[in-house]
Amino acid sequence: MILNNRTILITGAARGVGRSIAQACASAGARLIIADILAEQGEETAAELRASGAVCRFIPVDLGEPGSIEALAQNIGAQEGAIDGLVNNAAIATNVGGKLFEDIDIDLWDRVMRVNIRGTWLVTRAMSPLLGPGSQIVNVASDTALWGAPRLLAYVASKGAVMSMTRSLARELGPRKIGVVAVAPGIMRNEATEYVPAERHQQYETGRAVPGPQVPEDITDAITFLLTPGALCLTGQVLPVDAGFIFT
Ligand code: NAD
Repeated sequence: MILNNRTILITGAARGVGRSIAQACASAGARLIIADILAEQGEETAAELRASGAVCRFIPVDLGEPGSIEALAQNIGAQEGAIDGLVNNAAIATNVGGKLFEDIDIDLWDRVMRVNIRGTWLVTRAMSPLLGPGSQIVNVASDTALWGAPRLLAYVASKGAVMSMTRSLARELGPRKIGVVAVAPGIMRNEATEYVPAERHQQYETGRAVPGPQVPEDITDAITFLLTPGALCLTGQVLPVDAGFIFT
């Protein structure tokens, strides 16, 4: 139970990878707050986690709206008072690919940047007063930003920015003994990647040092470890968690 007595906020945990991270953190003993724009699914996920014995509540949030992020932090400040871990997982991650860089719609580009980059910064800023020494922040990036996946430019650029922010935040929060790391998962088989062409899935599945498909549960143990105070010395690192598709 490596997360016993730790309170963790996970954004984008109504479904997908965030939901799997929440399940893993609950199994590791954490108390959870999950936040997402999908209110109904978020409540369902929180209820499921409570039914399995976890302490968990759901708070709706829109990472595109600074006021909504402030309200999230105020809510947690009033109820929990402090948190020990933050997983910046929420992102516009589905239906963002397929077009060449010349053809990307400007509205899509702006939405991806607003949520994936500005939202990550604003959540971190709003939650920072609630994080004490020994707290850990895990930013969920993507290994597509390390190998330069084509036909995915807005998403890749946003995840590259998440990696860069991780490094600067590590330096700014280090003096407070707060660690900041990024994980860069490879493509997984889940709802968000159903739209991805079969060849891309195959490219990953044959290119991994450990060949085969990856599912969210394959990466969650790495994340639960990164949420422990023992991971502080990894601060600032970007860790591919992709079964050896790329090495850095
Ligand atoms: P997903 O689309 O299922 O999950 C994203 C979650 O973020 C959803 O629950 C969604 O509602 C939430 N979200 C989106 N916009 C929001 C907003 N404005 N405010 C609040 N919440 C919002 O995708 P996923 O595959 O579960 O992705 C989760 C994370 O993992 C993302 O950061 C993604 O980039 C990353 N990732 C996924 C893969 C993969 O293969 N699925 C690979 C590498 C990295």
